Amino acid sequence: MNKLLKQTGLLIGIIILLPAIFITLIEINSLNENEKTIERVFNKQIESVLYTINQYAQSVTEDWKNRLDFLLSRSRGGKEEILADMNKLFSDVNWIESVFIARENNLQFYNINPSYIPEEDSIKILLDKNRSEIERLSIYRKQGYSKVQPLKNDLIRNKAIIIFLFDTPEGKEELCGMIINPENFINRVMAPKIQEVSMEEYSVVIFSEEVNEVVFREGKADLLDLDDRKQFWIFPQYYLGISLKSATISDLVRARSWLSMILIMAMNLVIVLAGFILYRNIRKQIEFTQIKSDFVSNVSHELRTPLALISMFAETLEMGRVRTEEKKQEYYNIIHRETHRLSNIVNKILSFSKMEAGKRSFSFSPTDLNSLVDEALDTYSFHLSNNGFKYEVSTGEFLPAINADSEAITEAVVNLVDNAMKYSEEKKEIKISTGRVDDYIFLAVKDSGMGISKEDQEKIFEKFFRVSSGLVHNTKGTGLGLSLVKQIVDAHKGEIKLESKPGEGSTFTLLFPVNSDSGS
Ligand code: ADP
Repeated sequence: MNKLLKQTGLLIGIIILLPAIFITLIEINSLNENEKTIERVFNKQIESVLYTINQYAQSVTEDWKNRLDFLLSRSRGGKEEILADMNKLFSDVNWIESVFIARENNLQFYNINPSYIPEEDSIKILLDKNRSEIERLSIYRKQGYSKVQPLKNDLIRNKAIIIFLFDTPEGKEELCGMIINPENFINRVMAPKIQEVSMEEYSVVIFSEEVNEVVFREGKADLLDLDDRKQFWIFPQYYLGISLKSATISDLVRARSWLSMILIMAMNLVIVLAGFILYRNIRKQIEFTQIKSDFVSNVSHELRTPLALISMFAETLEMGRVRTEEKKQEYYNIIHRETHRLSNIVNKILSFSKMEAGKRSFSFSPTDLNSLVDEALDTYSFHLSNNGFKYEVSTGEFLPAINADSEAITEAVVNLVDNAMKYSEEKKEIKISTGRVDDYIFLAVKDSGMGISKEDQEKIFEKFFRVSSGLVHNTKGTGLGLSLVKQIVDAHKGEIKLESKPGEGSTFTLLFPVNSDSGS
């Protein structure tokens, strides 16, 4: 049976657990993939938000450059006139400090903000430093592409300079620069756009890393916890930073992974549980099949022994081979005893099958347990002493009558005494006692036999169960006796207590409630 169980366990393992492990591994693997994909998607989204912001800033400056270009390439007037035109052009703009035009080595300033004092020398140095960018602008223009170019500016704080090339009315290429107040530009031009593209989902921050200064913040973006950052194209000394408003991307991805992980684990738990339940059920079925086939062989064995004895002694008597009366008497006794044993077994089986079919009915009446015990032992005493048993009965005084089926209780007592005899090989002593504890009347059968291990104590009341190890193995039985006792006691709303130690003996105590209304 063990082999069969092992094979079953292995089969369940292979059929259920292996695929589960396999699926789990694949899932965990794809979880990592998913994580990466989600992260990639998020990053792409974030990147595109920053791109849109940069693009917008560029197109705004591009737009202003075009207007300025238009103005400069047509204006033939003097400085005052041009300044007046510019003031008109920039009347609504608060982020242009000044416009300058570079002619040879001279810078002509047109201050839009009258309080602005141009840093002429610094601008000259910057133009010099950005010579290659200016040359590139010129090449682009020759190819028909006129663009703006931010100057790399490490000299003038809090100002950004954007340059472009234009043609004077005389057709000469000249350089124009817009000196911009980035803070004003960001707050006036960029803020509405940033709010629009961040859609309540992202926090955006514009900061200068060098001076560790934040010039704009939408939401609660923390410089130390940004999901992405990009250089601000038109103001290269600034950076655009972005983070998710609810949580960072890694938090989000981690939360999703956790959720998936928990679901996978829950699924595994269910699979393992189902496998375990399946295994347990199959094990029970296998055990039950084994128990049933044991039962059939036990019963056959139980029946065969008395039948063989009866047949043998009856035949001897019939043939008149027994000479002395004494011997004849002895043979009659044996035939009587064995018939009694046979009918006991058959009664037990009948009683059990009735009980199983739910057809056993009990007839309850007030019963005196003491006299019931006396009567049962009267008929059993011969059997006991004949088998070399010393027995002692101690009945409690003044026991109230209990509401019981006396026949059924007698059956239970006989079964217990029968077991006490069967499972006592060396020390043949049986003690039967009755008494009262609280609201219960008890009946205890104590032997000094082989006892029952703790592990088996839980099982012996199950039908067909027999202890299959050690000495007990040699004793015949059906495994029905104690299950009958339990059913009888249950029908009386009573309880069974068992105290037993292997090698020392057992005490079975039946407890019946004093004021039981069973059956009434
Ligand atoms: P049976 O005696 O026919 O095997 P029971 O249901 O009466 O069936 O008992 C179940 C098992 O409990 C027995 O096989 C035996 O191992 C154990 N058992 C019952 N009574 C005793 C006892 N008094 N001492 C030791 N073992 C016992």
